Amino acid sequence: MAEYRIAVLPGDGIGQEVTREALRVLKAVGNKFGRKFVFQEALVGGTAYDETGVPLPPETLKLCENSDAILLGAVGGDKWDNLPSSLRPEAALLTLRKHFDLFANLRPIILFPPLIDASPLKREILEGTDIIIVRELTGGLYFGKPKERRKNNGDVVAVDTMIYSESEIKRIANVAFQIARNRRKLLHSVDKANILETSRLWREVVNDVAQDYPDVELHHLYVDNAAMQLLRNPRQFDVILTENTFGDILSDEAAMLTGSIGMLPSASIRGDGFGMYEPVHGSAPDIAGKGIANPIATILSSAMMLRFSFQLEEEARAIEKAVLEVLELGYRTPDIMSDGKKQVSTTEMGSLIEEALYKSIS
Ligand code: NAD
Repeated sequence: MAEYRIAVLPGDGIGQEVTREALRVLKAVGNKFGRKFVFQEALVGGTAYDETGVPLPPETLKLCENSDAILLGAVGGDKWDNLPSSLRPEAALLTLRKHFDLFANLRPIILFPPLIDASPLKREILEGTDIIIVRELTGGLYFGKPKERRKNNGDVVAVDTMIYSESEIKRIANVAFQIARNRRKLLHSVDKANILETSRLWREVVNDVAQDYPDVELHHLYVDNAAMQLLRNPRQFDVILTENTFGDILSDEAAMLTGSIGMLPSASIRGDGFGMYEPVHGSAPDIAGKGIANPIATILSSAMMLRFSFQLEEEARAIEKAVLEVLELGYRTPDIMSDGKKQVSTTEMGSLIEEALYKSIS
């Protein structure tokens, strides 16, 4: 690729603040490695609604279609909470995932050794944790129809539908097995097959797909047990495969293993290089505008973009190494602060990582 076209959608709240820092780091990587990244920014979420009346304006979608990857900050906020669901900021995210068929959401849960004491869990439980959650992203409860409210004999009833097809399960299972094959060859598939019909199909299909990966050890786990095991003994996991809703909840739980949701990146991909990269966290209205948000999740998401969309492995590693170096030097945003460390703002953290990147490559 002569140039890499990146659609930048900062969105709402801290999305704006953390995206700015990720761009700074990407520009530094581009300069140092001689890569041409072309950034084009567009509106998304509540900010887009305020300016255009919709959370995902057609110009934004067009820009994404003409780009090689999307870097997104976060969307949402109290201000837009009472809008009808199709106009809420979150609708933009769901539409982007569905429109581009980004069915595989990869969420690495990596514990940076200098942060081990920032986690509420004990060091001996956490040490060595390195998990990747593979979450199905375009099916299940979040998209199933009917999704509506009705009146039933004068009573208001709300309905969401959990639905999965064999082909949807098969393609996400293949992504998870391939990732497991390149790691510790250990896969835990999480479902609720004792209760849910979708989960029974999920388990059958995952077992079928497993036939093609005899080198990968497969375990099945109920989601309630998985939630418990993640805190009891996170080291037992390598790759966790699960459906949309369970993955949403488990990955936030797993965030606490790393100390802060502000550390967790994610990639939403479809297998052909195109992808959307965003931090796992939301727009954090409680700290927006204060300059204290942790930009590392977004910076690490941009490293995932270099790796998965552009195959720039060396550049991706340079970013990850720079993050580790800055943490080793003791710099912390408030969410990961502990005694004796140096507290810094969002922009200070971004510029420290930029600096470390220049130093370590030159
Ligand atoms: P959140 O992730 O925004 O915040 C949860 C908590 O984590 C808050 O206390 C927040 O201050 C803290 N936090 C989050 N990111 C942080 C960071 N980078 N640095 C330091 N602290 C951080 O989740 P929420 O409060 O449940 O949701 C807020 C809004 O974000 C809602 O409107 C929600 O719908 C939206 N949301 C959007 C996305 C997304 O854009 N992908 C994801 C989740 C939630």
